[in-house]
Amino acid sequence: MLAPSGDWDWVWLSQVLPLDIVDRIASVLPPHAALGRDRPAWRWNDSREFSSSSTYMALISFNMVSVSGIWKCIWNLDITPQIQTFLWLTRHEHLMNNFECCRRHISMNNLCPICFHEEEDVNHVLQHCYRARQVWLQVLSGVQLQYFFNNSFEDWFDANIRNNVNHWNILFAMICWVL
Ligand SMILES: [Zn+2]
Repeated sequence: MLAPSGDWDWVWLSQVLPLDIVDRIASVLPPHAALGRDRPAWRWNDSREFSSSSTYMALISFNMVSVSGIWKCIWNLDITPQIQTFLWLTRHEHLMNNFECCRRHISMNNLCPICFHEEEDVNHVLQHCYRARQVWLQVLSGVQLQYFFNNSFEDWFDANIRNNVNHWNILFAMICWVL
């Protein structure tokens, strides 16, 4: 499954697997000696060994984050499920972009295709790229401008999704979707 370069053999994989499976493989780094022996591992504790206590904690954590947290805010927005899913993937930085493609050795170019000055990650595309700034500056009020571009991506995203004054969170979601 690996090419001589050490990357996934995309030609071979795309010939023998459905595209959705190939896309899922793209989210996993190929095995490498520096990363240790490739083996199944339990993701929910540091030892990577299964335990019922870590399973319990993972379930508790999943409920807190996914149901009671930002997901609940996204789910309650009066927008299409497609945009809700987009927002969820955005918040967890699971959207494919040039930065992610580079990190996974799918591409050599990590630059934003709009400005060609910064890495194209989700924070840049939605918050800091000049095109995004031009759009946000058209809709932000003076008070919002004081903090809008200064927060970390997670704080920025969560604060805007939770801000329902004058349905701001819906406008925020729609703008993120079109950016
Ligand atoms: Zn840019």
